[in-house]
Amino acid sequence: MKDLSKPTNWKPTTSLVHGGTMRSSFGETSEALYLTQGFVYDSAESAEARFKGDEEGFIYSRYANPTVHMFEQRMCLLEGAEDARATASGMAAVASAIGCQLKYGDHIVAAKALFGSCRWVVEKLMPSYGIECTLIDGKDLQAWKAAVRPSTKVFFLESPTNPTLELCDIRAIADIAHENNAKLIVDNVFATPMLQSPLELGADIVVYSATKHIDGQGRCLGGVVLSSKDWIDEHLHDYFRHTGPSLSPFNAWVLLKGLETLSLRVRQQTETATALTNLLHGRKDILRVIYPGHESHPQYDLAQKQMKGGSTLLAFEIDGGKKAAFAFENALQIIRISNNLGDAKSLVTHPSTTTHKNLSDEDRIELGISDGLIRFSVGLEDSEDLALDIEQALHASAQV
Ligand SMILES: *Cc1c(COP(=O)(O)O)cnc(C)c1O
Repeated sequence: MKDLSKPTNWKPTTSLVHGGTMRSSFGETSEALYLTQGFVYDSAESAEARFKGDEEGFIYSRYANPTVHMFEQRMCLLEGAEDARATASGMAAVASAIGCQLKYGDHIVAAKALFGSCRWVVEKLMPSYGIECTLIDGKDLQAWKAAVRPSTKVFFLESPTNPTLELCDIRAIADIAHENNAKLIVDNVFATPMLQSPLELGADIVVYSATKHIDGQGRCLGGVVLSSKDWIDEHLHDYFRHTGPSLSPFNAWVLLKGLETLSLRVRQQTETATALTNLLHGRKDILRVIYPGHESHPQYDLAQKQMKGGSTLLAFEIDGGKKAAFAFENALQIIRISNNLGDAKSLVTHPSTTTHKNLSDEDRIELGISDGLIRFSVGLEDSEDLALDIEQALHASAQV
């Protein structure tokens, strides 16, 4: 197999199409799907050498697989990372990135506004292993500083957050982490690799749910952890091999195909999200619209500084609470109700009764998740059709 794959001077869109490609002797155009568990050796000596690490090559698909490797290499080029491990889901990526570098007695500081399962990992799972966790307001730089202890090893955040699209200042928080010998992990799912590059901003580790925009067409689960080669060798390599969160070759193949169109999709979805934000801003039945790319966002300046676009998601609060929000969702004809995001299909969620229903009322109010709040993941439909669907659904909701 010929490895074409690591020119560092490629622009991101070229890397998305060609990065990491390893062609077999058949010269296939599309990446080959190596649906195999294991590999055979030409001789006993070759098997011995491969196990010793003296000979390059694959051993077992829990460790590495050629199709999965192509996906990891393509992600590395896109992200500017030295190395990566692809995982079976976004949560496998998050749990591995956190779990592989912490031991009993260590401490983690995390922003409160986290994806529900991420919050469970840091708030419930880690403490059960003797790893303490302090949850803070991720927007508040003083709070990050104040939470540090001598045992603090990891900072963890997502930006923009789910579902209220608040931002954390990645560069400033990375500096605080490094002053205290801690590593910063950024969950970059909402921003996508096209709109934000956490490693460039100083983060040490980036995690993705590839289930979202990277697949982008609602088909399969996947995830990836990206970092320096040293960090992966020291912390993730053995953990990953022996706990087995590996991505299936079939899903890696689907995700490789997803990457080819990622920049086009994210660009279009961001453009449509901007148009819909502008439309909603003028309306009396909408109490607030949250979009990092709009001047009305309280952290607009930070968004301009650390993001390359406004986001493919927006959120808005309908006047009339849960009743109006439900009537709005039920009246939609093109836009579908789902807890998923990053899809070609536009999807709305009512966070307070679904994705965030397990939070206490107090936490929900603190995070701004009101009963009228709708999260909107913008798809690839025509922007005018989406605008008409929203308008007719708001009209229907005002009748109840
Ligand atoms: C979806 C999501 C995850 C988890 O990813 P899965 O692929 O569903 O396991 C983690 N973080 C964020 C921000 C997400 O949106």
